Amino acid sequence: MADEMDKAQAAKPGGDTIFAKIIRKEIPAKFIYEDDQCVAFNDVSPQAPTHILVVPRKPIVQMSQVEDSDAALLGHLMIVAKKCAQQAGLTKGYRIVVNDGPDGGQSVYHIHIHVLGGRVMSWPPG
Ligand code: AMP
Repeated sequence: MADEMDKAQAAKPGGDTIFAKIIRKEIPAKFIYEDDQCVAFNDVSPQAPTHILVVPRKPIVQMSQVEDSDAALLGHLMIVAKKCAQQAGLTKGYRIVVNDGPDGGQSVYHIHIHVLGGRVMSWPPG
């Protein structure tokens, strides 16, 4: 976990990201869901038995930069997150997370929703 926060402290917004490369299929990732607005794939460094990322094709940098006109897209991402959780069999619940900026633990500056499940989550988060 410290490693993830170190990455977040070091990460800088701007430019091409690993998620843009995944969306363009320049870096391999197995999509567990995709449509014209977003893709979903498993996190390479899972923090729970199920750890899925839902990523819009539109390269919004981070939550703090979304605009009113992104409302429908953000709603769609939440619906897709719910469908991915359902498909993964997370019947006992799950957690949805969006990290923003260095304090929020964001390491990739292309907005994404984490869907975490398969174990009991603690609260408050670290
Ligand atoms: P965040 O720290 O909220 O920005 O989340 C970025 C997430 O992307 C982390 O959980 C990483 O493990 C994950 N990640 C980074 N590179 C890849 C990759 N190539 N494939 C899948 N997940 C990745």
